[in-house]
Amino acid sequence: MHLNPYGEYAVLMAASLANDWPDDREGIVARTREFGMTMDFLAGADDLAASRAVLDEWLRVVDEVDPHARAALLNAALAAASAYPRLTDHNGEGWHLHYRDADQTLPHVLAAVISVGTALHLTTRGMHRLRRCAAGDGCRNVVVDVTRNGRQRYCSVRCANRAAVRRHRARGPISAA
Ligand SMILES: [Zn+2]
Ligand SMILES: [Zn+2]
Repeated sequence: MHLNPYGEYAVLMAASLANDWPDDREGIVARTREFGMTMDFLAGADDLAASRAVLDEWLRVVDEVDPHARAALLNAALAAASAYPRLTDHNGEGWHLHYRDADQTLPHVLAAVISVGTALHLTTRGMHRLRRCAAGDGCRNVVVDVTRNGRQRYCSVRCANRAAVRRHRARGPISAA
């Protein structure tokens, strides 16, 4: 996987996993393929549960809105998961950097890729560009804001429309005349 300067693919992959958690290990691996990862992962004893724990830790970062507290959570995740950067050219991807040790299990790779990608995303795009969907009423989806103006608040057009309808209703009738 190429962690581009914005960390965009890694953080979008994390949101995709958080918003639509796969049923099994194969589903997680398939999702990593969708987001451009090509490598094979070593099989671990409990990859599904351990990967879920990585996502739950990441959701704590999503839910922490204070930038300093958010950075502290992310720094702890980086310390636990990442390693010195190294050049690699596996699977014909072309030369790119890995921020982790070689030959790791799926949850270890996810922990490194997601923490580094999120750190790159927040530091290059803005510390506030990660949140839960603002629609509320049951939608807990994660929103990764990669828009130009940095004002994305909803996970989908559907949630944006629902919120607009609610605002409209709250205003009530324009005139009783
Ligand atoms: Zn790679
Ligand atoms: Zn939503």
